[in-house]
Formats: sequence, C-alpha cells, structure tokens
Amino acid sequence: MVTSIPKIKLYDTHAHFDGSPLETLTVMERALAAGVERVVAVGGSTSLNVGAIAVAGAFPECVRLALGFDRDQATDASPEVYVETLRSLAAVNTLSAVGETGLDFHYHPETADAQRALFRAQLLLADEWQLPVIIHTREAEEATLQVLDETPWRGEGLRGVVHCFTGDKTFAEQLIERSLAISFSGIVTFRNADMLRESAASVPDERLLIETDSPFLAPVPKRSLRNEPAFVVYVAECLAKVRGTTVEHIAAVTYENAVRLFG
Ligand SMILES: [Zn+2]
Repeated sequence: MVTSIPKIKLYDTHAHFDGSPLETLTVMERALAAGVERVVAVGGSTSLNVGAIAVAGAFPECVRLALGFDRDQATDASPEVYVETLRSLAAVNTLSAVGETGLDFHYHPETADAQRALFRAQLLLADEWQLPVIIHTREAEEATLQVLDETPWRGEGLRGVVHCFTGDKTFAEQLIERSLAISFSGIVTFRNADMLRESAASVPDERLLIETDSPFLAPVPKRSLRNEPAFVVYVAECLAKVRGTTVEHIAAVTYENAVRLFG
C-alpha cells in the first residue's frame, strides 16, 4: 500500500547563494524536491549580489531576485555610490525587491550613522522603483522605526518585510502598523526561543512569511547542517505548532503572502 503525503508548496523568502554553479544546482534541486517552489535570492554585498544574480539567472521560474547593500557595507563612502551600483544592476536584472538592508547595532554600533544613511538611501530607491524592501534589524528597533517614519514616501508607501525576525510582540505590532510583513527563520525552532515563538503566535496570517536565511541558521532538527531552502518546511512546522494550525495552512498563507510581495 502506498501512503501519499499531502503535497505542500513552500516559499522561502530569504536565501543567500555564493554563486558556485554546482552547489547552487544541488541546493535548488533539493529545494524543488522538498516542495519549495519559490525562493527569494537575497543580496546584501557585492559577492552576495553576484550569487543572487547567478541563481536567479539559472532558475528564472522559481527564483526571485533582491539586490541591496547591508549594514556591513556601511562605510564612509557616500550611499550614492551604492545607489548608483544598484541602478546599474537593476538596468540589466529584473528585481523583485531591494535588500537586504537595515541596521545592526549589535555588531557595528560604531557605524550607526553610516548605516542609517545607507538604509535611508535604499528605502528611497525602493519607493522610486515601487518595490518591497527586505529589512534586517538587530538591537536597533527604535532607530529602524525612526528611519522608516522619517522617509518621505512618494509612491504607494512602505512595502516589505522585516526578515529573520527576533523581536517581541510589541515590535511585531509596530511593524505591522507600518504595513510590513514579518518573516520567521530557523531561529523560531531553537530551544531557547520561547519569546520569539510568542511573537510568532501573534502575527496575523496575512502578514506572515517564512524563510531559511540560508546558508546560516539551520532549523531544528537540522542544526548541525549547512542551511538550505529545502529546510524551510521545519520553520513552517514550528509555526503551525505555535499557532495551533496545520503545516498545510501555514504553507498556503505564507506562499500567498510572498507571491503578493515578491511575485
Ligand atoms: Zn540575510
């Protein structure tokens, strides 16, 4: 007798690629075999942008492309230099989002001002291009909200996601008020993440996304392995458990939300 496992399709809204063709191929084959039908390949530095462009080019049907410069790239160089680079990349690539970008005062408190300037410049670019923005924030919640609120939105206004969310319920609510989605990564499966699971239980269905942030942060029970999009199902399973629903439901709503945001 053959038992059929209900087929679910999943959308990993945040993965990084190093651009090596063989690895990209095997990782994407395993993702597709695991029901991960779409992946956002996310940039953030010169090398991450190159890797994201490569995988989006190799898998145009299932990979959506986000390019940007993250907080580690915040230097004394004017943000305009980065913006010009993104403009030339966008001239020859189809972007679905700007990112990742944002603030991290855990690792780099000393570059706070430069981070703000680089973040702000990319928010304006996302606004100009009418694209969603993929936001990283760590130990910089107040500053992140402040930059978002100070941005003179001209288009439809802010659209996007705070990825790899690690905040509490209150911060989640503040982001939801600003029309952002909240994306949970493998961190939500970690043993000591009770506060985060409480946040995960509180986000409304229509703002919920899932991601791997691979190759980092592999979820339980794959902790010891290099993370990859195929493992996003474990994030979905964890969210189903904390929200008292089925993995099929989580897969369906997060897929739909991700398509709305990234295509
Ligand atoms: Zn990332």
